[in-house]
Amino acid sequence: MNIRVKYLFSGIVQGVGFRPFIYRLAIENSLTGFVQNRSDGVVVEVQGKPEAIKKFDSRIKKELPPLANVVNISKKEIPIVDEKSFQIISSHKDKQASVHITPDYATCNDCLKELFDPKDRRYRYPFINCTNCGPRLTIIKDIPYDRINTSMSKFPLCPECRKEYEDPSNRRFHAEPNACPVCGPKLSLLNENGDQISCPDPIESTIDLLKKENILAIKGLGGFHLAVDATNTDAVKRLRSRKFREAKPFAIMVKNIEHASKIAELMPEEKELLLSAERPIVLVKKKLKTVISDAIAPGMANLGIMLPYTPLHHLLLEKFDALVMTSANQTDEPICIDNNEAVRRLQGIADFFLVHNRDILVRCDDSIAIVAEKKPRIVRRSRSFSPKPVILKDSYPNILALGGQLKNTICILKENCAFLSPYIGDMETPQARDFLHESISLMERITECKPDLIVCDLHPGYYTTQVAQKMAGENVIQVQHHHAHIVSCMAENNISGDVIGLSMDGTGYGEDGAVWGGEFLIANETSFTRAGHIKYFLLPGGEAAIHEPWRIAASLLQDIYGPDWKDIAKKLKLVPDKANLSLLDTVMEKKINSPYTSSLGRVFDAVSAILGLRSKVSFEGQAAMELEAFFTGKTDLSMPFSILEENNQYVLDLCPMIKDIVERRLRGESLEALASGFHISLVQAFMAMVEKIRKKTGLNGIALSGGCFQNRALLQKSISKMKASGFEVFSHHLVPTNDGGIALGQAVCAGARTSKK
Ligand code: ZN
Ligand code: ZN
Ligand code: FE
Repeated sequence: MNIRVKYLFSGIVQGVGFRPFIYRLAIENSLTGFVQNRSDGVVVEVQGKPEAIKKFDSRIKKELPPLANVVNISKKEIPIVDEKSFQIISSHKDKQASVHITPDYATCNDCLKELFDPKDRRYRYPFINCTNCGPRLTIIKDIPYDRINTSMSKFPLCPECRKEYEDPSNRRFHAEPNACPVCGPKLSLLNENGDQISCPDPIESTIDLLKKENILAIKGLGGFHLAVDATNTDAVKRLRSRKFREAKPFAIMVKNIEHASKIAELMPEEKELLLSAERPIVLVKKKLKTVISDAIAPGMANLGIMLPYTPLHHLLLEKFDALVMTSANQTDEPICIDNNEAVRRLQGIADFFLVHNRDILVRCDDSIAIVAEKKPRIVRRSRSFSPKPVILKDSYPNILALGGQLKNTICILKENCAFLSPYIGDMETPQARDFLHESISLMERITECKPDLIVCDLHPGYYTTQVAQKMAGENVIQVQHHHAHIVSCMAENNISGDVIGLSMDGTGYGEDGAVWGGEFLIANETSFTRAGHIKYFLLPGGEAAIHEPWRIAASLLQDIYGPDWKDIAKKLKLVPDKANLSLLDTVMEKKINSPYTSSLGRVFDAVSAILGLRSKVSFEGQAAMELEAFFTGKTDLSMPFSILEENNQYVLDLCPMIKDIVERRLRGESLEALASGFHISLVQAFMAMVEKIRKKTGLNGIALSGGCFQNRALLQKSISKMKASGFEVFSHHLVPTNDGGIALGQAVCAGARTSKK
């Protein structure tokens, strides 16, 4: 007796070879029926012997195509019908959707083999792809994900490509971006004015130009890169001066994993991450002497490297050990995607442009990840990760969270899925603000979600707060910055209820109007209380202090030494020559434009200045990163701190630690010892705080979040010490610990608040 079973699969099940996979399984088990893409998932009906269906069923999960991500399977037995075969039925669009759009993935090994096979019809064709690899999100106009709804719609398939596309047994069956040299996109080379240069092979010419120290703008998967030869210091320096980018490290693309191992000390987990289909930039420890120019990451112990992820990259990197591949934009503006836009916006930076005619429709910067405690952690979640949802344990109403101000991403919550947008960046320029609006409409479109609730930060001055208020009026939900950080960490770890939340951060608007950033919270998804914080200190001149960390150091020295601070500052050579110290004294005394802060990020800045590493910063986090670079871990220095109790809150005073650092520095102790001692003592201070909070509340779970935990030394030491003391510790893996993760926390917080009403 035959039976018939109907399945509905949702999640990432389209454009990843799911239908041919089901087709093959059905045929192999002699089942009849059909498979069909719908906008709410993939529907499968199979009919045959119960044992055969059982076999079919058990193989689905075991043999899933590599890029598929099934979130839900519903299945029920239905009446049998009269049919003879198994078929793939064409897509059909209906209203309700829960099909997830796939991110873009790196060129797979099967495609690479063809790329370098002289006998293959796609030999050296830079747009080779299949159902397991290639562009997805970045070429999408609308859903469902069919060729007609992508920027490939303008390339009619040639007969050979069509045959592959329509053959269920072919690995290019319904590979929407399928193309070949006959029918697909083509490269061209442009001069600095955007005029096409006639050349037989734009790739050969590009390689030639790069060898001659030129700066090339190269159109990639989610946007343009600016490229120079990474082994050529003159070329790297030219790029720096043209981009007005003094010191911020450039990411490099390295030929292959063997070369990467020559440039950096790679742990097995880092190798795995570099080689993953997501191909993020991985921040790794650079080796001392390498072929790579020192101008790429001056003063840093880490280097951001990635491996080629498009066929074009593979062809270019054949001739180089490594290329600088940095997002093509003017400082603080979003990455360029359109050919004309690139020529216009990169005028004066790029010497030549290597472009193609497959339009990029969605901006997607390279993602960045680190490995800490042997686990990958995403610190910028964009290409190849977005818009893959973070799966939550609870379901919520439709919510749009707009995030914060810096390193921003937005989040759409729909049922139990949190969809984070590609990286948007700092909301400071008109271009970035346009990009925010672009991202809102993109995310609403691809998730088919009209939000019922709009969430933003508490900061009245953030652009995202203003947008949210315009969208939702009085109904806007606001979530405190550091609470959002902690809820973000809880959400991705699928935990709920009260935890001790350590939000160690740069800047966030506090409920008392101060700049928070060294917070010990007792938090759950809906609310928090402040159990403790780092003792407030003055941020003299506000923003000015953030750009010139010596001012923060001055403020802390003044707290410690009173009026004598200037003598100490002089001995430390802390103050730049032209600085007007009596003016600074007045600013501090009268608190002119000088907020109080509890920010740990700013303490790092101050320590970095005291150690003479940096009195001015040219990018956010620079001082802290340079300080981390001196961490060796080889120390048993334990520096003092104190904890006071005020208004039922524990106040962590780090001034004794700063004082100790000053005195040791003046005695000539090494940077390595002091930087290591500072990290380790800070973790001891965290421990003292969390022990007090545990004693008071009985809470044993700790969530770590905030930008400071991008510091691997701080993160690893915190986790290991806390675990050793019996705490259960949660940290970020899937979403950034920095402000790129707060939209998730905002969304879940708003969802939890409304569900609990
Ligand atoms: Zn492929
Ligand atoms: Zn073709
Ligand atoms: Fe933050």
